[in-house]
Amino acid sequence: MIENSKEFMLFNVYDYAAMVEQCVDNSQTFLEVWLLDEPSIAISLYRPTRLGILNRYIYAMISTWLRREYRKNSDCYEFEEIEGVERCFEVYGVKFIDYSTFLEKCNGVDFPGCERFYEWFLLNEEAFNSYWEKIADEVFHIMFANRGFLIRFSESLAEFVEDNFSVFIKTIKTDSNSIARYPQVPSWLKKGVFFRDGGRCVLCRVDLSGLHATDRTLHYDHIVPLARYGTNDPSNYQLLCKKCNLKKSASNPVTGSHYNAWWDY
Ligand SMILES: [Zn+2]
Repeated sequence: MIENSKEFMLFNVYDYAAMVEQCVDNSQTFLEVWLLDEPSIAISLYRPTRLGILNRYIYAMISTWLRREYRKNSDCYEFEEIEGVERCFEVYGVKFIDYSTFLEKCNGVDFPGCERFYEWFLLNEEAFNSYWEKIADEVFHIMFANRGFLIRFSESLAEFVEDNFSVFIKTIKTDSNSIARYPQVPSWLKKGVFFRDGGRCVLCRVDLSGLHATDRTLHYDHIVPLARYGTNDPSNYQLLCKKCNLKKSASNPVTGSHYNAWWDY
């Protein structure tokens, strides 16, 4: 669920952000499995949605990784770690069946291969899903602010789109060999990108807020051009001035690595 404001609950959300950041260049196989399993998400390649592909990707990556980890290393989870997980649920207000109650209920049940923790996880799967959704939303908040990450994510996604173009051509609007441009960038997306990029062209840093000059046109540019299998997902937009956008056109994906200092707006 997307909320209007963020209340950051856990410091380890940065660990998840680092995990997503480290894996993004090798995401091809992962994206493939995930997107092909969920054709509805493919629609988001054409139509920008608030709960976009990056947000869903983060959720899928965290949940897939943790599911595998819990299944493989169930016997490594002692009371201390389980209490830690329970505390996370409490912090986020997620309802769950606590481990003590679970143990009482399954008194005498012999779990093969020390899979006690994994059984508890399966019993609480809904709670875990809800918890991961909240974590994914916080991680998205961090990652969307980092264009260096966004260009790598958009390039991985573009590679996947190119490899599977024949699949998408059946479900979404396309122009010959690329995803079609969405007719109008929604106002919520314009506002978000404008705020993130500080109202400046991300390449030449010229002010586009209209406060210092009124003759400059804002361009909401696709970081990875559509002609190069870029998408209309919110993660693929940035603010450019007209001059930089015309120079960039459909050439290589490029973004800026400078950010306004908080005290220099
Ligand atoms: Zn510029």
